[in-house]
Amino acid sequence: MKTVIIGGGVVGLTSAYELALSGHDVTVIEAARCGAGASHGNAAKIAIAESTPVPAPGVLLQGIRWMLKPDSPLSIKPSLAPGYLKFLLQMARHCNARDFEAGLDLHLRLGEDANDLFDEYQAQGIDFEMHDRGVLLAFETRERFDEHCASLPAFEAAGHRPRRLHDDEVREAEPALSDRIRHGLSFSADRQIEPDSLTAGLLAKLSDLGVVVREDTRVGRFVRSGDAVTAVVTSDSEVIKADALVISAGVPSGVLAGQLGQKVPIYSGKGYSIDYSPAPIQLRTSLTLEDARVALTPLNGMLRLAGTMEFGSTDDDVNEVRVGAIRRAAQEAFRDWGDGQGELAPWAGSRPMTPDGLPVIGRLDSVKNAYNNSGDSMLGLTLAPGSARLLSGLMTGGSSTLPGEQLARVSPNRS
Ligand SMILES: Cc1cc2nc3c(=O)[nH]c(=O)nc-3n(C[C@H](O)[C@H](O)[C@H](O)COP(=O)(O)OP(=O)(O)OC[C@H]3O[C@@H](n4cnc5c(N)ncnc54)[C@H](O)[C@@H]3O)c2cc1C
Repeated sequence: MKTVIIGGGVVGLTSAYELALSGHDVTVIEAARCGAGASHGNAAKIAIAESTPVPAPGVLLQGIRWMLKPDSPLSIKPSLAPGYLKFLLQMARHCNARDFEAGLDLHLRLGEDANDLFDEYQAQGIDFEMHDRGVLLAFETRERFDEHCASLPAFEAAGHRPRRLHDDEVREAEPALSDRIRHGLSFSADRQIEPDSLTAGLLAKLSDLGVVVREDTRVGRFVRSGDAVTAVVTSDSEVIKADALVISAGVPSGVLAGQLGQKVPIYSGKGYSIDYSPAPIQLRTSLTLEDARVALTPLNGMLRLAGTMEFGSTDDDVNEVRVGAIRRAAQEAFRDWGDGQGELAPWAGSRPMTPDGLPVIGRLDSVKNAYNNSGDSMLGLTLAPGSARLLSGLMTGGSSTLPGEQLARVSPNRS
C-alpha cells in the first residue's frame, strides 16, 4: 500500500518508521526541512513527569489576567484568525478537573512505553543522543508545590513516584540551584533526547527501509474519488498518488483535514528556546522551574532553556521580552549563572495545540483512507513513538494500543 505522510517532524517521521516496518510503501512529503519545525527547538525532554494537559482548571483565566504582562509564561493574544475565538471557547470548556484528570491519564497511557520504544529504536539501529538524567520540578513556594502535588496520585497510579524534596534536599539533588528554590519533585525515569539527532537517526533508518522523503515540497490540495483520497497535489502542481494518507503537519494539520471535510481544530502555541554552548553551568539533572515555567535540559556540549506558551501568534518571530524572561528565570534560579556566556541565537516555534489538550490520532470520518496523527501540544517528542505505534496498528489490521474510551478521546472525529 502506497502511504503518503504529510510532514517530516518527529510525529511524521516516527509514523513513517512504524508504517514502513508494517509493510507500507511510505513517502514523506515535507514543506521545508525534516525536523525543522517544533521538533527542532523543543525542550528535548521525554516529559512523562510533565504529562498534564494544557487545559487545566484556571489556566485560561490566568492567561487573560496576564494579557497585559509582556513577559508572562502564558499569553493569550487577541487575534482575528478564523476560528481562534471558538478554539479558546472550546478550550475554556475543557479547563475543569474532570477533563484534566482524563487527559492526564490518557497522556500517561500513551507515553508509558516511551522510554522502552526509544530503547527499541536504538536497538534497531536508529542512532541518536539520549540521556537518562531524570527531571527535577523546582518550586519557589510551598503553595505552588502543594498545588502541583494535587496531580501526583495519577502519576503514582501509573508507577511514577517522585521524591519530595525540601530546602537543602533540593540542592543535594541539584547543587547548582540557588536558595530561591525551596521545594522539588524528582522523577528519576524521565529522559532527554537531542531532537536534531533523533531526526537525523530516523532519516537514516527510513532511507535504509526504502522510505522516500521529499523535502522542500508542500502539499497544497488533495485529489478525491468518492470517499477516498487518491493523490496529493504539491504547490508545484505535482500529483503524487496515494492509497492511504497520514496528516502529520503540525499546526497546519487542522487546515489540511478541513480540506478533506473534517473539522480538526489545531492552533499554534508558540514557545521559545535558547541554547548555550558551552553550557554556563553544569547540571546533574534536567529541570523545570515551575514558577517561571522554564525548562532546562543539559545535552552534549550544551544546555537548552525553553518556555512560554503564547496563543494567538501566527508567526515564528522571536519576542525579545519573552526570551528575556526565560533568561532571567535561569539567572535567578542558579547560583553561578553569571552573564550566561555561550548563548546562541534564540529560537521560536509553534506547538500544535488542540482545545482539549489531547493529540489527534485516527481515521477521518469524512474520508475512508485518510488519517491524522498530530496535535501533540507540549508533548510531541514524548508521545511520538507511542502515537506512531497506535496509528500503525489502526492502519494495519485495526488494532489499538489504547482502550476504546481513550481511543475515542484522541479521534479526529471527537466533538
Ligand atoms: C518551546 C517548546 C518546547 C517543547 N518541549 C517539549 C519537550 O520537552 N518534550 C516534548 O515531548 N515536546 C515538547 N514540545 C512539543 C513538541 O516539540 C511538539 O509537540 C512536536 O515537535 C510536534 O511535532 P510534529 O511533527 O507534530 O510537528 P512539527 O515538528 O512542527 O512538524 C510538522 C512538519 O510538517 C511540515 N508541514 C506543514 N504543512 C505542510 C504541508 N502542507 N506540506 C508538507 N509539509 C508540511 C512542516 O514544515 C513541519 O516540518 C515543545 C515545543 C516547543 C515549541
